[in-house]
Amino acid sequence: MKSIIGVDVGGTLLRAARYDENLNQLERVEQPTLASRGRDVVLDRLYETIRQVLPERPEDLLGIGIALPGPLDVQAGVLIAPPNLPLRDIPIVELVEQNVGGPVFIGNDADLAGLAEFTRGAGLGTSTMIYMTLSTGIGGGVIVDGKLRIGRGQGGEVGHMVIVPDGPMCGCGRRGHVEAVASGTAIARIARERLQAGESSLVRDLVEGDLERVSAKVVAEAARAGDAMAREIFTQAGRYIGAHIASLMMLLNPDMFVLGGGLTKAGPLLFDPLHEAVREYAMHPRYYENTAIVRAQLGGEVGLVGAAALVRQRLGL
Ligand SMILES: [Zn+2]
Repeated sequence: MKSIIGVDVGGTLLRAARYDENLNQLERVEQPTLASRGRDVVLDRLYETIRQVLPERPEDLLGIGIALPGPLDVQAGVLIAPPNLPLRDIPIVELVEQNVGGPVFIGNDADLAGLAEFTRGAGLGTSTMIYMTLSTGIGGGVIVDGKLRIGRGQGGEVGHMVIVPDGPMCGCGRRGHVEAVASGTAIARIARERLQAGESSLVRDLVEGDLERVSAKVVAEAARAGDAMAREIFTQAGRYIGAHIASLMMLLNPDMFVLGGGLTKAGPLLFDPLHEAVREYAMHPRYYENTAIVRAQLGGEVGLVGAAALVRQRLGL
């Protein structure tokens, strides 16, 4: 049977799965990345993980897709400088093709999560769709007319678009990006700053005064219990994301937005102000009336499915 291999390289786990041409999963393996042991150990483990799911007959391999943390040079096939992996300036496509087989295609993990939701998840049946993962950072994937769009190779960074010029510092080192004001990291930072300034809040009690322990999850817990400061912080984050979505609606007029990542577990705390801001900032109801904003469906398998979907898209299957 013709097979596509999907691979997801994370700082904690290496995962690989074999799919048929229609992206039905046939088998799947995973093992710890062991990132602290350095480049050669991680690469050897990666080759070995992929070998475990290769089809028996080499001629049955259609291709291998690999989801990797950015930044990447997709065209050159090079992994540039992922924050949680000892793999800098690695010609990953060439190495995997030499050591395991190919053809090999790589993609940014958030882009491929978007492609996965489009192909097998919440975005099934849409044509133009924007995926955003709202987590410690904010990533995304942009599908236009059925294709993942990354421009010259690095596009689709919906979390690093400016929403507050000269605003707070972002994880990427630039100021005022959406990630800097509305990610889980931003929510925790804002709560910490307000507590340090002396504001009283249930958040302080929940972390027993230890501000290092403040996280978006704790802020959500306090907000659910009715804490005013925590609710304000979530409302502000939700409004920023909603305003950002309104801008993206103006640009691409998509069928759907698919939102994934841990922050979406906050539910109405985040989504109510988000929808309110969309209605407030979109130029005309025509933009949001027929554009669904939904939660992602695929969970932890999203990288694997997206990597396999990339192979299908690149081979024109
Ligand atoms: Zn940024």
